[in-house]
Amino acid sequence: MKLKSIELLGFKSFAKKTVIKFDNPIVSIVGPNGSGKSNIAEGISFVLGEQSIKSLRGKSGADLIFKGSKNLSHFNKASVSVVFDNKDKKFTLASADSKKEIKLDYNQITISREVYRDGINRYLINGSEVRLKDILSVLASVNVGSSGHQIISQGEADRILNSSLKDRREMIEDSLGLKVYQYRLKESERKLEKTKNNIKEAQSLRREIAPYINFLKKQVEKVEKTEKMRTELELLYKEYFKKEENYIEKEKNILNQEKKIINQKLEKITKALEETKKEEKNNFIPEQEQLQPTEEKIQKIRILKDELSRKLGRIEGRLEINSKNLVVLPVSMEEIDVFISDLQDYLDQALLGNELQEVFDILERIKVLVDQFNPSLKDEKPTNYKNDELIKTKNDILKELSALEAEEKKFYQLIKEFRTTIDRKRMDEREEEKEQFKLKIEEKDIKSQDNLISIQEDNLYKTEVNFKEEIREAEVLIGPVIFSYKKFKLLIESENESREIQEIRRKKIERIKIRLEDIGSIGSSEVIKEYQEVAERDEFLSKEIEDLNKSVESLKILIKELKEKIDGEFKEGIDKINKQFQKFFELMFGGGKASLSVINASNRKKKQQDEEDIEFKNIPTLIEEEGEIEQGIDINVSLPRKKSKDLHMFSGGERSLTSIALLFAISQVNPPPFLILDETDAALDEANSRKYGDMVENLSKHSQLILITHNRETMSRSHVLYGVTIGIDGASKLLSVNLSQAVQIAK
Ligand code: ATP
Repeated sequence: MKLKSIELLGFKSFAKKTVIKFDNPIVSIVGPNGSGKSNIAEGISFVLGEQSIKSLRGKSGADLIFKGSKNLSHFNKASVSVVFDNKDKKFTLASADSKKEIKLDYNQITISREVYRDGINRYLINGSEVRLKDILSVLASVNVGSSGHQIISQGEADRILNSSLKDRREMIEDSLGLKVYQYRLKESERKLEKTKNNIKEAQSLRREIAPYINFLKKQVEKVEKTEKMRTELELLYKEYFKKEENYIEKEKNILNQEKKIINQKLEKITKALEETKKEEKNNFIPEQEQLQPTEEKIQKIRILKDELSRKLGRIEGRLEINSKNLVVLPVSMEEIDVFISDLQDYLDQALLGNELQEVFDILERIKVLVDQFNPSLKDEKPTNYKNDELIKTKNDILKELSALEAEEKKFYQLIKEFRTTIDRKRMDEREEEKEQFKLKIEEKDIKSQDNLISIQEDNLYKTEVNFKEEIREAEVLIGPVIFSYKKFKLLIESENESREIQEIRRKKIERIKIRLEDIGSIGSSEVIKEYQEVAERDEFLSKEIEDLNKSVESLKILIKELKEKIDGEFKEGIDKINKQFQKFFELMFGGGKASLSVINASNRKKKQQDEEDIEFKNIPTLIEEEGEIEQGIDINVSLPRKKSKDLHMFSGGERSLTSIALLFAISQVNPPPFLILDETDAALDEANSRKYGDMVENLSKHSQLILITHNRETMSRSHVLYGVTIGIDGASKLLSVNLSQAVQIAK
């Protein structure tokens, strides 16, 4: 790695593009006062990331840009680039997590910085815009620090003597190449802090969700309990339903069987009853019907007989009259017969009449008949009938009478027979009635049995309706899986258990149902899902805390290791520097003692600043707590032949020499790639200038040296000399010169 060139454009007095090549170990820049030599050193400071505008002798960014002159207009942008050779691939860049270093695989690294009038800065590596911290990281990788130890500005040769203990320590750490570790240390400390905050955050999140988890856990327990109860219920239901179904089926069969039997019986009885009814219809007794006409016939015969008897009586009377010569009535016998016959009819009718009026009517008619007959009796004169005729008639009547009697007798006999038949038939009828009565009682009995079965059927129907309703309810509670009760295997011994046990089961089911209802419906799947999610989150947080704790541990170890490394290397570095310091000091002063010592000093609190804030300000390097003890570097010197050990008592030249001795000692221990010394030799006398020249030559073995000088001795030690002049256009010009020209220009 080598500094190849520096390019200035619009930077301060370098209006035009100016390229300074550094092909040799010692390059000196010479020129008259105010020609712009220091502007070159500042240009390098600027491009290496200097943030203090004051140290660049300006008030604002605009002061760094060419202001313009009579002949040249002002610039809006100043840019400076440094070109490094990177064939050895020494340049690296810290990765985003700063754990790894990425090798920059370029043969040449160009670092550029631009500043605009509005104060905006741009940083570029090989033309790509980067952040300031990338520039610092890349430079730190080749031991070019930001503390500016490799650029000693004009009049600042004794800066290291004036700076604070802490700044001195930083400068030395930087020069020892410990800056990289410091960066890492700071990065790790920041990370540690961040990790601790993350742990706090995660812990607080866990604390926040803890009550919710507890709540959900309880809910889940409830859900699980409900599930258990549901399972129990499902099992009970299945057994219950299986039993119920079996029971209903069994009962149905029994009832059907019974009903069948009863129906058969009923059918039989109905048939039997119908049979008896049919017979009843046939029980008509014809004799009964014949009884009345026969009696009527007898009645008629009696009437005829009575009539004949009266006729006979009259004939016998006449015969008697005839025999006693009785006056014969002037009415013929026929007339009398008619009269008597009519009278007899009326009388018969009167006797048969039911109503009094009817009898009166008949009597009235009898009166009319008698009245009609009387005159005929008065008018008529009795007629004499012959006895023979009368006798003949009498005999006829007698014959007729006996015929009638015979007939009457026959009819009487017939009636008697009829009565006997009727009585017999009546007897039979009563027997049938008895049988029918028995059947009816039997029928009633069967019907009541049938009724009983109907009631049982009704009850069974209700049981079945209930059963279906229970299944429907169970489906709502348990789901369609409940229908698998049909496959439920019943214990054999429980098959003939009593209904009471089933009832106990039903009550148990009811109890569980009530308990389930009491618990209420929790959206089980949502609760479980939510619990799982929250528990997972908690688990994740716990795992994260664990991981973070692990990374805290490893960060602590890393920090400890880095601190140990820094401390170790620092102490080692101090020892080495002390040896060189003593050597250079002796060389400069021809004796005496010089050393650095590490001391502890308390420090005031400093805040870390943001990147934007640190533009043109000192870069913060440490986050320190108030009162924190930190190490600083003290310089102990004693001049030969002088008692004074206090640096403040040293002359300007002595201070300059001490400072050079220390700077060179530092550079010797860990040589920076280049070193810029701006008139560091200004205060040296001839003898010391030679010693300075010797040391410069010595240093140039390890570091490229860019010397800004008016010192002839120094010029003589240089390999290349550049002369800087300023023209009437106010712009600095650069030209290669030889020694005598240089000496000339420097005046
Ligand atoms: P000395 O030998 O006295 O130390 P020097 O050669 O180091 O002098 P510098 O200090 O580098 O000179 O240059 C100072 C010159 O640069 C001044 O003349 C100043 O006017 C000029 N200068 C500084 N800033 C600007 C700028 N922004 N624009 C133009 N010129 C500038």
